[in-house]
Amino acid sequence: MPVSTVTVRVPAKVNVQLSVGGRRPDGFHDLATVFLAVGLYDHVTATPADGLRITAAGRDVGRVPLDATNLAARAAVALAKRYGVEPDVHLHIDKDIPVAGGMAGGSADAAGALVACDALWGLGAPREELLALCAELGSDVPFSLVGGAALGTGRGEILTPLEVGGEFHWVFAVAEGGLSTPDVYRECDRLRLAGGGSDLAADLPAPGADAALVAALREGSAAALAAALSNDLQAASVALRPALADTLGAGLAAGALAALVSGSGPTCAFLAPSAAAAAELAGAFPGGAYPALSPAAGATIV
Ligand code: ATP
Repeated sequence: MPVSTVTVRVPAKVNVQLSVGGRRPDGFHDLATVFLAVGLYDHVTATPADGLRITAAGRDVGRVPLDATNLAARAAVALAKRYGVEPDVHLHIDKDIPVAGGMAGGSADAAGALVACDALWGLGAPREELLALCAELGSDVPFSLVGGAALGTGRGEILTPLEVGGEFHWVFAVAEGGLSTPDVYRECDRLRLAGGGSDLAADLPAPGADAALVAALREGSAAALAAALSNDLQAASVALRPALADTLGAGLAAGALAALVSGSGPTCAFLAPSAAAAAELAGAFPGGAYPALSPAAGATIV
């Protein structure tokens, strides 16, 4: 049954493991990444309209494109095309996820738009269909739909759900200005070549899940997770934005169990031992830092 307005809440993510293989002939990199959804959310609201219209409000809104390049718009168009309907919808995005922060904000909005338009247009798309559309829209989009925790392989879009045995407390320190994900991958390749190695998939071992990290999630152990966190893109992000090294150091000095760049950055993620420690840690970043709990549910109609 078509409805008159649908709001979908979608979470940000942090990659608690991001292992980057070599560059493939198609230009992508093989990944083994462990996604963890965190309780920092965008909300996508769909209402009927003549044609497709995008509006946005909230944090960083000036950096969100409001045209057909918006990932939420692309998701609506892809769904409409798949079902042979007109993409008539007004999508309003309330942004709380930092833009170009390595937290999959655009991907979250794409997943949110798919779920919202599916309900608004009364399509009843099966979950597998929505997941296939997500994978076409971007490597991080399927995880935004499912949430929780998952191992991502391929470009990150092939998901295996992972068990999480407890809550983890995070603080995310937002940096001024974003980092382009393709630029960070290019820098990662450049650093590999500069170090005398190869950047090609054919020459490098295929990345795999870190068993210690998967066990830490399953046990809900923050100390074990802190010891296992890894991000192969971190050196590249820090090379492009040297101030990130100071941010990571400041979080550790303020009591974080561990610090890492979130995805391709520049947002930095800090794991805290408790909610109280996370609140205190957030106070150490006058430029803006946000406590968030994980795991969080995927795209949910609210
Ligand atoms: P990821 O972690 O998946 O690599 P990210 O969090 O670093 O992504 P996004 O916030 O998704 O980056 O934004 C990357 C770029 O995508 C932005 O600079 C913006 O121009 C564009 N973009 C398109 N649609 C959106 C959207 N709905 N929200 C934010 N940015 C969008």
